[in-house]
Amino acid sequence: MLMKAENAMNEADPARVLASVDEGTPVSVKIRERIAAARKRFHANDNIADFIRPGELEALLDEVTGKMEGVLSSLVIDTENDHNTADTARRVAKMYVNEVFKGRYVHPPAITEFPNAEHLNELMIVGPITVRSACSHHFCPVIGKVWIGVMPNERTNVIGLSKYARIAEWIMNRPQIQEEAVIQLADLIQDKTQPDGLAIVMEASHFCMAWRGVKDMDSKMINSVMRGAFLKDANLRREFLALIPRS
Ligand SMILES: [Zn+2]
Repeated sequence: MLMKAENAMNEADPARVLASVDEGTPVSVKIRERIAAARKRFHANDNIADFIRPGELEALLDEVTGKMEGVLSSLVIDTENDHNTADTARRVAKMYVNEVFKGRYVHPPAITEFPNAEHLNELMIVGPITVRSACSHHFCPVIGKVWIGVMPNERTNVIGLSKYARIAEWIMNRPQIQEEAVIQLADLIQDKTQPDGLAIVMEASHFCMAWRGVKDMDSKMINSVMRGAFLKDANLRREFLALIPRS
């Protein structure tokens, strides 16, 4: 009987066999294989949108839902009888994939750059931009503010004010480390606008310190990136820091 079954398998249409094997492969595995083939990184704060095909994000949501069900089950929570947690796995999966970690899975916001027609060469400050993220270590919220200082020159591209907030949202909607988040933000703004100088200050509350751990409610983390003119010119740096109204 066994021999017969094996023969039947061997005689099956190879394309169909391949398709069924592929169907059984979790979508996360397919995406990881593409990333590995391209020799790219997929750390928590990396964007992997280039490796996700149309429709796969929905499949990924289903896969994360299933895994979250497993987490709830291992936490010994009776999701079958507890009406409060019946749909929690799905809700959390949606929150991760479509909201708080969305910046990993979607392409960057469309930004139109304009030439600096007015030859603006004065310090420009954007902020405070409210930023929401989660720490890579605990997946606890990180909520704070960002100020961006731009020192343009005649070759600098100008982007709309609201675009700074869009870029920041895309970078922050990932599990982040504050020190790396500000560098990613600076790299992207630098690339888009080519300013003479760029300064970013971020101040944030880390809920992994307030909700758990040391349970310190008031501590905040402040860090900055200074580039170009802000690095060379101490007066410009002082002017920027004096103008941002931190409370
Ligand atoms: Zn943390």
